[in-house]
Amino acid sequence: MNAAHLRTAGDAARAPGVAAKLASGKRILNAMTVDVEDYFQVRAFAGVLDRGSWDQLPARVEANTNRMLEIFAQEGAKATFFILGWVAERFPKVVRRIAASGHEIASHGYAHQNIDTQTQAEFRDDIKRAKALLEDIGGTAVRGYRAPTFSIGPKTWWAYDILAEEGHTYSSSIYPIAHDLYGMPNAPRTPFQPAASALLEIPMTTVRYGKRNFPASGGGYFRLLPYGVSRRAFARVNREGSPCIFYCHPWEIDPGQPRVAGASLKSRLRHYTNLGLMERRISRLLGDFAWGRMDEVFLTIPAVRTADESRAICPR
Ligand SMILES: [Zn+2]
Repeated sequence: MNAAHLRTAGDAARAPGVAAKLASGKRILNAMTVDVEDYFQVRAFAGVLDRGSWDQLPARVEANTNRMLEIFAQEGAKATFFILGWVAERFPKVVRRIAASGHEIASHGYAHQNIDTQTQAEFRDDIKRAKALLEDIGGTAVRGYRAPTFSIGPKTWWAYDILAEEGHTYSSSIYPIAHDLYGMPNAPRTPFQPAASALLEIPMTTVRYGKRNFPASGGGYFRLLPYGVSRRAFARVNREGSPCIFYCHPWEIDPGQPRVAGASLKSRLRHYTNLGLMERRISRLLGDFAWGRMDEVFLTIPAVRTADESRAICPR
């Protein structure tokens, strides 16, 4: 347990609702995060929706993000928004609104392309373009980055050097679980330095039972399984003295979104199940735990592993 996680009701910058929670014994501040992309940009639909068609599809990301901002405001919670450059370019107003509401602006890259499908030069162009756009529109420095579909792994470890060179301070791009689309089950479960630079990787939250890590960061699991499963997992991580990261997408609170034809049954089940329950569930989650931005939750804590130690885990 690091003292940086322990906040008191006297924390001047804190919204009243969150301060009350921290004072009432829910003492760990967790990181609320939103990956700002539209329903047609998800990896599960990449096989049936050409990225060239994105501009022709009815966009819902602005309205859904605005609704999320309202939900967070009701609970006085702050969050980090990992925004796609593609979205920022088309909907600059929503980026400005996120920044004006006191949330952290971070990058989800420009074109939502998995890193293992890009060359190093393409990756650099993608993150540079997103960061410049977001800083220009949001008027604040962008420090955080989250890879599309958690696509940093042993083969794309070079991404960390490029992220640091382009001015990022942290990444939240690894999910230390086994999953069919992503995941690196042997990665550290707590923040670590993946490269020679000071850049921090802040992995998505897991709970460990026996020798296996189980996901505890929201996403599809939060929507598909009963709320109590996630609540117990978050509570357990907090009891162990660590903050959690929760992530969700604006399209997850939008049951009225157009249905994408031709996607597999598995993709459709993952994407459309329980969309109508999400808004209430997120409100409940905001009430049950204390939530803040990635930078305020994690950037004050020293990395638990040095670059040398993490090289042993993920050799180049
Ligand atoms: Zn994404």
